[in-house]
Amino acid sequence: MGTKPKRASHSNELKGKNMAKVEDNYENETICIRFCGGCPSYPGIKSEVLFCARGKSHSPKPKSGCNCGQCDIWNKYDLSDFYYCIEGAAE
Ligand code: SF4
Ligand code: SF4
Repeated sequence: MGTKPKRASHSNELKGKNMAKVEDNYENETICIRFCGGCPSYPGIKSEVLFCARGKSHSPKPKSGCNCGQCDIWNKYDLSDFYYCIEGAAE
């Protein structure tokens, strides 16, 4: 007698880190590509996208227009800035 069921999961993960405003996930990445990808200021480095979450490009181009204002993420997260690939992530 007396086999206690063991608790298998004990999560110490603290959630609620308040870092980036925009979530860095695959879904947002695929949305971003539709807008940044066709932008005249897009740095064109293949792995770089979702600048509003991940921060600026390692090799930004001069400002020649920004598509962020048309982006679903920009609207969803209530962003107000532009040129995240140059200026850095949304705060
Ligand atoms: S962040 Fe703005 S300027 Fe930069 S590539 Fe995306 S849409 Fe263009
Ligand atoms: S707001 Fe700009 S950087 Fe952010 S996902 Fe949209 S197009 Fe990309």
